[in-house]
Amino acid sequence: MTEQEFRVVYPLIAGWIQKTLAEHAPAARPVASLGFNRLAQYYDEKILVSAKVVFVPRVPVPPLSAMGLDRFRDFEAMDAGGITYLDTYFVRANQAGDESLHFHELVHVIQWRILGPEKFLAAYADGLERFGYRGCPLEVMAYDLQARFDARETAFEVAVEVEARLPR
Ligand SMILES: [Zn+2]
Repeated sequence: MTEQEFRVVYPLIAGWIQKTLAEHAPAARPVASLGFNRLAQYYDEKILVSAKVVFVPRVPVPPLSAMGLDRFRDFEAMDAGGITYLDTYFVRANQAGDESLHFHELVHVIQWRILGPEKFLAAYADGLERFGYRGCPLEVMAYDLQARFDARETAFEVAVEVEARLPR
C-alpha cells in the first residue's frame, strides 16, 4: 500500500473503529473479570484490568473493500475467532472460554499500545498485503507467543517480549 493510499484510508478505518467500539462499549468487560487462571502469569494486572473483551456472534471487520481496498477481501471474509482494536478485542461467542485465544488477542492489545493506532494499522496492512494473514509479522509474533503459552512454558512477561520484537 502506498503512503498516499494509506493517508486516504487511515481516517476511514480509524473512524470505523471509534464507532464500532462506541457501539459495543456497554457490552465490554475487563479481561480480569473473566476468571482465567493462567493469563496473570504472562500479563501485568494493569493490562488485564484495562483491556476489554466483547463477545459477539461474528467479529466486526472494517468494510475494507467498500473503502476501495479490494485486495483485503479474504481478510474481510475470514470470520476470525478474535480481533483487536486498541485496548478492546472481540471474541466469537462460541470461543469465549478459549484462554489461548484471549492470550493471542492480548498480544495485539500490547502491539496497539506500543505502536499507536496509525503505526499499528500501517504495519498490519503492509504485512497482510505482502505476506498474507498468517505471515503478517504482527500475527507471527502473536502466534509464536501463543504457542509458548499453549506449551505451558514457564511464566514470561509478554509486554517485554513484544517490546523487544517490534521494530521502531
Ligand atoms: Zn492475531
